[in-house]
Parts: sequence; C-alpha cells; structure tokens
Amino acid sequence: PDPVVSAIEAVDPEHKLKRIYLSPKGKQLKQGLVEDLAKEENGLLLLCGDYEGIDERIIDLCIDEEISIGDYVLTGGELPALILADSISRMLPGVLANEDAFTLESHYSGLLEHPQYTRPFEWHGEKVPEVLISGHHANIQKWQREQSLKRTLERRPDMLAKAELSKKDKEYLDKLKNSED
Ligand code: SAM
Repeated sequence: PDPVVSAIEAVDPEHKLKRIYLSPKGKQLKQGLVEDLAKEENGLLLLCGDYEGIDERIIDLCIDEEISIGDYVLTGGELPALILADSISRMLPGVLANEDAFTLESHYSGLLEHPQYTRPFEWHGEKVPEVLISGHHANIQKWQREQSLKRTLERRPDMLAKAELSKKDKEYLDKLKNSED
C-alpha cells in the first residue's frame, strides 16, 4: 500500500480534496451524483486501480467514496476517471456556452431529451418536424416536452416514476398509454 498512499498524500497532504476511488464495486454514477460532485469546493482526487484493484486498507484509510461508472468491468480506472471528469466539468460555470445546454439534456431533468435536428430541412426525403421551423416558441417547447415524455416512456419508463411531472405531462402520458392499449 505504501506507494499508493505516498502518491495520495503528495497530491493532498491535508486531506482537503474529496478522494474518490473508481471501482466497479462503488456507488453507480448518475446525473444527481455528478451534480453533487460538481459542488465540491476543494476539488477531487481520483484514484484508479489496475489488475485486481487496490488494497482494501488504502480504501478504508484514505478514500472518501467509491464510484462505479456502470455494471461492467474495465481494465483500469483511467477511462472511468475521464468520464467522471468530463461529466463534472461540463456542469461548471463557463465551460458550456449557456446553462440551458445542460439543464435541458437527458437525465438532468429526470427525462430523456427530445430528438435534435440540424439543417437542411429536408434530407434523403426525411423532413424536420414542421413545428420546429414555425418560429412559434410555445409550440416548439410543447413539442419538445411531449417528445421527451414519449421517449422516456418508450425507452426508460423506470425514470418516469422519479421525474417531476406537471398535470399536463401526466395527461399526455395517459393519452400515450391509452393509445397503446
Ligand atoms: N477485481 C475488481 C472487481 O472484481 O471488482 C476489478 C478490477 S478492474 C479489472 C481494474 C480497475 O479498473 C479497478 O480497480 C477500477 O479502478 C477500474 N474499473 C473497472 N471497472 C470499473 C467500473 N465499472 N467503474 C469504475 N472503475 C472501474
């Protein structure tokens, strides 16, 4: 354990950083955890394992939290550390052009995001939905919200149980469910 502990103490001698060990045995990384970690004022120390992992005594004595990026095993903790760093850094002020860029995205709001389109309006015979080029912001927002609800119902119905849903959202979901029957 000594070389690993020496490395940790060289980076963080007074234990001011939140020390994270990337591990398939850890708490699973979700958007809520990313948001909490982005609020850590002093920053993070990320420890990556290799081979069988890290001596458990190091984890007991030096690590604050174990985090897994998913239920699969990778060769080392470096890619999980990059994933964690990327997901957190895009939440920090100034990294993205504006806050909407992440607040409207999948998972942040508890739903999957609506489909996205670029130009041209027609491509290989496929058209961008008319409402999106109407310039009518309220209708565009309504369409986006409904698509987001529809996608989440189809692909991740488990997320709907925890999402914040308005009366209108619930009515729309009921309408979708009834049309399936
Ligand atoms: N023996 C460990 C086990 O069965 O739980 C697996 C060790 S894994 C081959 C080597 C290293 O990759 C781990 O110490 C960890 O740092 C990293 N790693 C692998 N899968 C990971 C995951 N899903 N999330 C985070 N880190 C992971």
